[in-house]
Amino acid sequence: MAEDFTYKILILGDMSVGKTSLLVRFCRNVFNQNIMQSSGLSFLPKEISIDGENVILALWDTAATEAFRSINKSYYRGAHGVIMVFDQSNIKTFYSIPSWITEAQDIINIDKPIFVLANKCDLTEKVEVPKDMIEEFCFSNQYTLFNVSAKTGFNVSAAFTELARVIHKNK
Ligand code: GDP
Ligand code: MG
Repeated sequence: MAEDFTYKILILGDMSVGKTSLLVRFCRNVFNQNIMQSSGLSFLPKEISIDGENVILALWDTAATEAFRSINKSYYRGAHGVIMVFDQSNIKTFYSIPSWITEAQDIINIDKPIFVLANKCDLTEKVEVPKDMIEEFCFSNQYTLFNVSAKTGFNVSAAFTELARVIHKNK
């Protein structure tokens, strides 16, 4: 009988960077400009296939608490990987990445893969974060970088699937 694998993935990042939009894009392949502001924590499951094996991704979204960083520690516990999101049109959201990672790494192991998703790449006119700054930051910290847009769907599925693949390979 085929075995199912379930991996817990955390979506971190400042408010309004597009965390929920990315999840909804990946899980349902839609984009809704007026996405409902959920409160508290929520999670979406997504089943994918990796090399013929069934993998279930338990995608944990954060909401409302972002501003206060009062995320419950149980949110981080047992995570297999992290999707760290920032908004390319708002440099402050890029600068807050290290504090998110530091908080998460109090709980999760340092060896868990961290993928940085530079979201809203469709807003080409408004990009505030220089490309080489992002690349240098990710390279020196060994984070995998994806340029994405929840709005157009660009690279979203590629990023989540690659993270799942890395987790599954190292299981
Ligand atoms: P969250 O607070 O991180 O969950 O962010 P949301 O998913 O709620 O998105 C915040 C705002 O950014 C919403 O108005 C979204 O429609 C918008 N948004 C999210 N992703 C994108 C994107 O890729 N491109 C553009 N242009 N807007 C986006
Ligand atoms: Mg949200």
